[in-house]
Amino acid sequence: MLFKATVSLIFFSTFTFTVFAENTTFIGKFVQGGVVVGKNITAKKIFLDDKEIALSNEGYFIFGFGRDHKIKSELKIIQKKNNNKLLYNLDIEKSNYKIERIDGLAPKMVTPGPEFYKKIKEDRALIKKGMKKRYNTNDFPHTFIMPAIGRFSGVYGSQRILNGIKKNPHGGLDIAAPQGTEIKSIAGGLVLLAEKGLYYTGNIVIIGHGYGIKSMYIHMEDIDVKEGDIVMQGQKIGTIGMTGRATGPHLHLNIYINNVKVNPELLFAISK
Ligand SMILES: [Zn+2]
Repeated sequence: MLFKATVSLIFFSTFTFTVFAENTTFIGKFVQGGVVVGKNITAKKIFLDDKEIALSNEGYFIFGFGRDHKIKSELKIIQKKNNNKLLYNLDIEKSNYKIERIDGLAPKMVTPGPEFYKKIKEDRALIKKGMKKRYNTNDFPHTFIMPAIGRFSGVYGSQRILNGIKKNPHGGLDIAAPQGTEIKSIAGGLVLLAEKGLYYTGNIVIIGHGYGIKSMYIHMEDIDVKEGDIVMQGQKIGTIGMTGRATGPHLHLNIYINNVKVNPELLFAISK
């Protein structure tokens, strides 16, 4: 049996909880940068745009949409019984992003000199290696907590213009707080990378939470964990600093779901 449904009416400002036929439930926003948790206890396999995504024993799965995600996506659920297919055509709402200008950065941090190219390349390889690691767990993470208390000084998706030069869009959430403020893991997981002294990101930690979810903590002062450590939700992993390219002490938090950078605020929204 082929079941088709269209998610058509999703408002950007509202928090959605949707129930479809065949007992699939969704919680979250179908919007660029959005995060959605689904549940279907009859599911055997799940595909988002033909890419398989992880499924928990209880039928939970999570997916997200990138900053510039196209306006449509297709979610396919293969059911345990007779390999029945459920097909959902998802309409993805567009997001509006801010333009942020930051001036007064040291010119070498905006356009690094050739003497830094090697270091930047090595750093990139290090992050890539950490991001390739996986954490497999039977515990589906249902809640996510803010990693630090502070003021949101930069939001997801902004187009950044540094010293007048147009740069890559801002991919995370900046939380400004005094140096030394505690940083906590947003959920339980495995430390995939803990490294100091990277050119752009400074001191960095990446944690895998299973089901394709990863959190990245940048510009840290101290790091209290090492690669391979298992951490609990809320466990202190280090402190806020201004290492790497930062104009003041803050935590830059990136959230990845299946290697797609999503809006951290929309991940926290599904925990409320
Ligand atoms: Zn940032």
